[in-house]
Amino acid sequence: MTLTLTVHRGTRQIGGVCIEIAHPDGERLILDAGRPLDAPEGATGLLPASLDRSRPATVLISHPHQDHWGLVEELPADWPIWTGSGSAKLIAVTADITRHPLTRTFQTWHSRSKPFAIGPFTIAPILTDHSAFDAYMLLVEGAGKRVLYTGDFRRHRQPVPLHHGDQLQPGGNLCHHGSSGDTGLDQLPLPVCQ
Ligand SMILES: [Zn+2]
Repeated sequence: MTLTLTVHRGTRQIGGVCIEIAHPDGERLILDAGRPLDAPEGATGLLPASLDRSRPATVLISHPHQDHWGLVEELPADWPIWTGSGSAKLIAVTADITRHPLTRTFQTWHSRSKPFAIGPFTIAPILTDHSAFDAYMLLVEGAGKRVLYTGDFRRHRQPVPLHHGDQLQPGGNLCHHGSSGDTGLDQLPLPVCQ
């Protein structure tokens, strides 16, 4: 019994990211609920059809770019949504200035948050460098597996230390989705989702 990782959208395009991690006990995390960059203005009903909205899930938003959070209003109302504290503020401001104020609220972590539990998962937010303020990689642990979701990142400066001295262990999985720009991503080891 292991984690099941489903990329609902994001492997063949930049943005519109939506990834599901399911624990063998049935609990689920959704990593990002991004609006596709090519979606027409005002279009709705854009969540991936493959995403089962009839069962509970918790959503984690990696950073405040709309191609990673822009569909949160379409998520089931009883699904908790988490993001960084700065991201939550910036997302709310963005929604206001684009005249689509959010009805959803966020639960938040901050840049020095220790790993925290959501059901059977442990989440470690890792502040990273990106063109968006308060952007995070998310290290998810559950069922004896570790999955690193990089979100979007760039390597324009010295790497940000991993959370509180944590190190990726051999056997951990690196899962990259989203735009990395000119990051030298191909120099990173094994960008594989399992
Ligand atoms: Zn981004």
